[in-house]
Amino acid sequence: MPPRVTAHDNDDAAGSSELMERIVSLCKRRGFVFPSAEIYGGFRSTYDYGPLGVLMLRNVKNAWWRSMVQMHDNIVGLDAAILSSPRIWETSGHLAGFTDPLVDCRNCGERWRADQIEGTCPKCGSGDLTDARDFNLMFKTHAGPVEDEGAVAYLRPETAQGMFVNFLNVVQTTRKRPPFGIAQVGKSFRNEITPGNFVFRTREFEQMEMEYFVPPPDAATWFDRWVAERHRWYVDLGIPEAMLRLRPHDAEELSHYSVATTDIEFAFPWGWGELEGIANRTDFDLSAHAAATGERLEYFDQATGERYVPYVIEPAAGATRSMMAFLIAAYTEDVVDGEARVVLRLHPRIAPVHVAVLPLSRRDELKEVSGEVLSALQPSYQCDLDVTQSIGRRYRRQDEIGTPLCVTVDFDTLDDRAVTVRDRDTTAQVRVPIDGLADEIRSRLGF
Ligand code: ATP
Repeated sequence: MPPRVTAHDNDDAAGSSELMERIVSLCKRRGFVFPSAEIYGGFRSTYDYGPLGVLMLRNVKNAWWRSMVQMHDNIVGLDAAILSSPRIWETSGHLAGFTDPLVDCRNCGERWRADQIEGTCPKCGSGDLTDARDFNLMFKTHAGPVEDEGAVAYLRPETAQGMFVNFLNVVQTTRKRPPFGIAQVGKSFRNEITPGNFVFRTREFEQMEMEYFVPPPDAATWFDRWVAERHRWYVDLGIPEAMLRLRPHDAEELSHYSVATTDIEFAFPWGWGELEGIANRTDFDLSAHAAATGERLEYFDQATGERYVPYVIEPAAGATRSMMAFLIAAYTEDVVDGEARVVLRLHPRIAPVHVAVLPLSRRDELKEVSGEVLSALQPSYQCDLDVTQSIGRRYRRQDEIGTPLCVTVDFDTLDDRAVTVRDRDTTAQVRVPIDGLADEIRSRLGF
């Protein structure tokens, strides 16, 4: 067994890359994340989410949706098209300004983002770089059969604009009044110059964004509230506070639409990296779309007769990037009963499998009662029925994928109608009657 490594105590560079290697290898080996098109040699830092990854990613998105939409009576959801009018991107500033500065190394031909390197090529060390030129990050395509300028369309580089262009639709259909929010989860695409660090930066990724429309005088207060609430979300889902920090942007760093932005950053093995940005976008977007279309994107208060363009506070998070942060924060190697194990200490809400049902033997006698246990739990929980290899091996496998609880069915179960519930973190085991099992699981998982 290699030396103990956890995300919490890796300060040296070698330890961090070793930790990353172990996590990437676990993801591949256990079916969280596969390199895309692997049988064709892969494809440019793209990834596919495997049977466990898809469960976990969905749980991350559901946890966000629950905290944003379900738990706020003034936030509603939206699912806008990925391909839409290119005029949106003209108005939002993405066509003109969504660029990164690109430089080429004349020595080895490698391309870099000028703002991410320090004057020399990180690959070959040469200082012979081209001048930086702007590179637009939007993916361009054509809508319809004719590939001419009039048919150009873009894959959305953020989900936010879908919320702004539907502002009137949502206000009219829901009768919400500021402060209220529109939330959306979905794919975004950016032709990143330097994708990398596993799924930290990919060209196709998922975002979780919410636009919160407020009366302009209240914007600063709501900004602070959302920074605090979003920080708490990561902590509540198990990321230690020491692995998170808030980083306010200084004036030069602010985007053209923002008067205040604070990033929530995570201690990735290679250093601090953004998980989410909270921005005060003012009335920039609504006003720009109103000017471009002639529509009045305003709120009219019938009671007071007041009409105004709300300000927008936007918490914008990455689903794929935060799934990776949850994995890194959860990864632990420890020793139980003298035996080393890898365990993902994931919060039960985001663990891919909630409960594993483990019949002690494959013998027919245990089949029926195991099936009964499974049917009692499946309507509420993602379960895994595992019948292969020794029980100890099976516990290790479930620990390694972060399953919070294992339920073991043995031959005594046939007599006492009870099963053993084992806890991933403490490895403690208790005997529980099948009749009370669903309640026991609910009280332990917390949902
Ligand atoms: P970065 O500075 O890392 O390029 P950004 O500031 O451009 O990110 P935003 O536009 O604020 O990112 O997007 C909101 C969130 O979407 C980010 O905090 C991140 O979690 C996620 N995100 C952005 N770009 C990518 C990407 N290429 N791959 C994965 N997630 C991304």
